[in-house]
Amino acid sequence: MEGDFSMKKPVVDWDLCIGCGSCVEICPEVFELKDDKAYVIAPEKCDTCNCQETVDICPVQAISIVEE
Ligand code: SF4
Repeated sequence: MEGDFSMKKPVVDWDLCIGCGSCVEICPEVFELKDDKAYVIAPEKCDTCNCQETVDICPVQAISIVEE
């Protein structure tokens, strides 16, 4: 049952992010755009929309999903 407590959350690599806003469009509850960088504001909301989509749509592969 250990796995039940792990949580997946998206992480943005700011060296790669170009601030295109695609992730914010798909997942506005989780991502916010500030100073041309995407910030993860509420990783726990990841359950309500599939953040894998933001990983796929990011043009520079700046988003990855990590498991905690
Ligand atoms: Fe940055 Fe990628 Fe989000 Fe665009 S989709 S704002 S490049 S993290």
